[in-house]
Amino acid sequence: MRTIKAAAIYARISSDAEGTGKGVERQIEDCRRLAAELGWPIAEEYVDNDISAYTGKHRPNYQRMLTDITEATIDAVLVYNLDRLTRRPVEFEEFNAILSAAGVTDVRFVTGDMDFGTQDGLLIGRIQAAVASNASGKTSERIKRKLDQVAAEGRPHGGAQRPFGFDADKITHRPAEVAIIRQLADRFVAGESLRSLAVWLNNGNMPPSTGDQWRTNVIRRLISSPRSVGLREHRGEIVGPAVWDPILTTEQRDRVLAILEDKKNSGRRAPRRYLLSGLLRCGRCEERLYSAPRKTTRRYVCMAGPDHGGCGRLTVVAGPVEEFIADAVLYRLDTPELAEALAGRARQDEDTARLMERVSADREQLAELAAHYAERRIPMNEWLTARTIIEDRMKANERRLRQATNTSQLTGVIGQGGALRTQWTNLNLDRQSAIVKAILDHAVILPGTPGATTLDHDRVKPVWRL
Ligand SMILES: [Zn+2]
Repeated sequence: MRTIKAAAIYARISSDAEGTGKGVERQIEDCRRLAAELGWPIAEEYVDNDISAYTGKHRPNYQRMLTDITEATIDAVLVYNLDRLTRRPVEFEEFNAILSAAGVTDVRFVTGDMDFGTQDGLLIGRIQAAVASNASGKTSERIKRKLDQVAAEGRPHGGAQRPFGFDADKITHRPAEVAIIRQLADRFVAGESLRSLAVWLNNGNMPPSTGDQWRTNVIRRLISSPRSVGLREHRGEIVGPAVWDPILTTEQRDRVLAILEDKKNSGRRAPRRYLLSGLLRCGRCEERLYSAPRKTTRRYVCMAGPDHGGCGRLTVVAGPVEEFIADAVLYRLDTPELAEALAGRARQDEDTARLMERVSADREQLAELAAHYAERRIPMNEWLTARTIIEDRMKANERRLRQATNTSQLTGVIGQGGALRTQWTNLNLDRQSAIVKAILDHAVILPGTPGATTLDHDRVKPVWRL
């Protein structure tokens, strides 16, 4: 049995003539109860309003959920009944195809409609979808055309929820919220985790536009969605410029996307407890030092043996060396040398710009390809093959981009060493580490005097990146 990490709840209001549809709140409550019984953590609740009761095709949040399943941010789905999920056989097959492509088999219905994991279950689902499709109205074409037109004109979709950052018209910016989104993007690019940003927001007094708690996937979308750069998304694809103004620059969003991609590739990491992980080298053998606590003392040590290949003859206590390096970093942030080094960085940023162009060209091509597929001009297998090729290339460039974009980690901290010093201990480890890594390439730790009880600062030789 697989462990579910991020379940989705899907609910839909339908304006169908029968009028027997359960209210969305009831649907969601029932799903939450089921999730609790199953022990599935809920990552997100996707709710669509009646705009798509008949076609089942143009439900922005349903599409968003499919995207999240494809991108593996969702690994299970809870729905009240099959009717809420889909009423059309074609769409049922599409849903099934997306699930199997993503390796997701955990779909549960409150009414126990069917089991997606089995052939029998699929058969039942197909029959039910076929029955439901007969009951659907004939207004689908009209609704479809209307929604396509709204999207093509770049106007916002008709959902009831206003997006964070916007007024109820979904066009006018709310300055205070826009400022938060920009800050989130800057801090994320500077190395802070989505989780720590969520904690920060939940401790503040700015609630999300829906729900009462900030969740990481909401923050992820805020700083990475096409909406944030003034683009209109429709059926999971970018259809063109939107009528609202961008909140983030394309460059900012590309950096966010590059980091998200990088994180996805490197998987989940254990929470960081060592400020200088990966940044220290042994002064005897030049190998990297590893964090290795002994009883209550945190230490960095040179490790011998096949996995590490160090000499195994050097140890330094973590606390004093972290303090010393942090101090040196804060001091350096205020020096003229740093400003000069940054000027040199501007040249490097030209390469970055070229890489970004390539990445965004690839992203456009992906969107184009998806549009071809959506309009049935190419079959799914061709779409998937072409997509893999482009995505691989894009990932490689994004990785290079990620390595090249370290200057951005200094957003808002250059010349702020003095101010940062007073709050340093209040910053979380992610943020501290991002600041250190932005200007320190590594530090060499020289051998110490045996028996010394304090850190001799001459043992630490920082090598600055900037
Ligand atoms: Zn060594």
